[in-house]
Amino acid sequence: MCVKDEVKNVVVSMLPRGVSVVGIECEGPTLVMYIQNPSTLMEQSSIIRSIAKTLRKRIVFRAAPEARLDEEAARKIIYEVVGEEAIDRKDGVRFSRRFGEVYIYLSSPLKEREIKRLEKEIFARTGWKPNIESGMPRSKVRLPTHEIYAVRQILHNEGVEEERRNMLQQLGRRIYRDPIMPVNSIQIGVLGAGQEVGRSSILVRTSESTLLLDCGLKPGSSTDEFPMGLHQLDLDELDGVVVTHAHMDHIACLPYLFKYGYRGPVYMTEPTKYLLYILLTDYVEIARREGRVPPYGLSEVEEVIYHTITLDYEDTTDITPDIKLSLYDAGHEIGSALVHLHVGNGLYNIVYTGDFKYGYTRLLSPANDRFRRLELLIMESTYGGKDDVQPPREESEAVLLQTIRDTVENGGKVLIPVFSTGRAQEILYVINHAIRQRLMPKVKVYVDGMVLETLSVHTMFPQYLNREVSEMIYEGVDPFIDDHVVPVDRAKRLEERMEQVMGIVQGEPSVIMAPHGMLNGGPVLDYFAHLAEDPKNTLVFVSYQAENTLGRRILNGERDFTLRTLTLGETKISMAMNVRYIPGFSGHSDRRELMNYVRRVEPRPQKIMLVHGEPSKAIGLAVSIELKYHVTTLVPKTGDHLRIYPP
Ligand code: ZN
Repeated sequence: MCVKDEVKNVVVSMLPRGVSVVGIECEGPTLVMYIQNPSTLMEQSSIIRSIAKTLRKRIVFRAAPEARLDEEAARKIIYEVVGEEAIDRKDGVRFSRRFGEVYIYLSSPLKEREIKRLEKEIFARTGWKPNIESGMPRSKVRLPTHEIYAVRQILHNEGVEEERRNMLQQLGRRIYRDPIMPVNSIQIGVLGAGQEVGRSSILVRTSESTLLLDCGLKPGSSTDEFPMGLHQLDLDELDGVVVTHAHMDHIACLPYLFKYGYRGPVYMTEPTKYLLYILLTDYVEIARREGRVPPYGLSEVEEVIYHTITLDYEDTTDITPDIKLSLYDAGHEIGSALVHLHVGNGLYNIVYTGDFKYGYTRLLSPANDRFRRLELLIMESTYGGKDDVQPPREESEAVLLQTIRDTVENGGKVLIPVFSTGRAQEILYVINHAIRQRLMPKVKVYVDGMVLETLSVHTMFPQYLNREVSEMIYEGVDPFIDDHVVPVDRAKRLEERMEQVMGIVQGEPSVIMAPHGMLNGGPVLDYFAHLAEDPKNTLVFVSYQAENTLGRRILNGERDFTLRTLTLGETKISMAMNVRYIPGFSGHSDRRELMNYVRRVEPRPQKIMLVHGEPSKAIGLAVSIELKYHVTTLVPKTGDHLRIYPP
């Protein structure tokens, strides 16, 4: 057994009379208690919280197999409790015999509180531990959901379930063994994003454990770069990977770890799991379509999914014998997280921000700034330069809307390169909001690539969005799209794709949104190649353009270049379209917000380490932080390994 008798005794002493524990198992970080009489426990369900709080562990109660109804009878009760209309027709209700749990997928959004109530009733009446997932609001435009169903399919595959259970049990034994030695050193290895933007990857090593935080790639004009020394990592020694959010520069190399034999857990939030799958499968498919060999295949992407352990914000979870992990809202994109590591029973605490926004956006709340303890803050510095102060949001929105109005009135088209997730949804929201408020005439917005697929994830998890937007979704309104949005379901055959693109670029004035956000490949180039030479059109950048990408070169004034697109092959471009950079939409904190964060974060860290920034910006920010707040600030390079404890 993975837990000591003391733990069992605590649980038994706290349980209501009539509820007996017949077995305990560790599934990864979760202690699973098998009980008789789930209905008695549900009458006093608040006890579960008290037990988890007392033990400071993740706890799940399941009914022993003999205390569960047979599946048919259980299904009947579930339909009765939830309502037939409210259950998704395609996925509906899925029983997982190995785990004694049942997954219920809803057809429309439902508030957390209501979900909890249904879960309680179902558990009490059927003995199956329910997991209810909210659905999407009905939309005037049919959103693609293929990948979302695919993720569920992977997780409900019976062979996978067995493998996943073995993995979790093995992991449980590893996490809950006693530490062999006290923590006598903590090292940080910067495998990527040290004085550069891209390939985020940070190695944390204690005497007992090894963790990797993010594992991304760095997009370049010719090749993508991987984290440094990734292939030298001893994968058997790696206890876990923590993912802050689903952007390629933080996740793209994850499947690569599995290709080379990693079989351990990957921690992230629930929305990140779906987004990650959408982005990574798209990455593999685009590479194949463009005739390149992707660094891994779809089966390795699936490996990532079934090794995923999802965590809610602010839950504390044991992930190794000497490290506890909590995720906090980072405000950067839906499901994005700040990582808090609590090492050696409070000895040393690290916060790694990933990408974060400490300010107002339309969709999200600002990043969390309160922690119980904090010694080292590892912070991004993308906009750390002295001049990187973004204009107020209202101003940026006004500029965007005016640009669209002017271009469209002039008979032109607006092309907005976007990443599949993050800014794209923010921009869709702004345009939709303006059209609804009649601040702008109805203009067609073509959306290509995975933008709509990732949009579905936004409406599935309203609790991860800010109050205003989540309320709309709960009321059944889709805040992002209306009938002016036209999804472009990318044609598979080349001639069809050409026709599709020509239809749009030769059609009426419109807005076109497509990935990649930095013009370094992706479907956006198909449009760009046709729109670039007409001065009536406008190219609008709304996000950060990394060094060496075509987006950055254009911002730097380059107008003549050769482009390779799927539909046209190699083409010489002589750009005449307008270029606008509207900085205020960024999901990153600007210089002022970064400084504010250092000032306000509680408690104040002893040390700061800046990553994810170009050298001049990161160094400039470090100097300002030291001068103003007197906190030692390091700016490591990619490849550096630093001992941070003992100090
Ligand atoms: Zn990001």
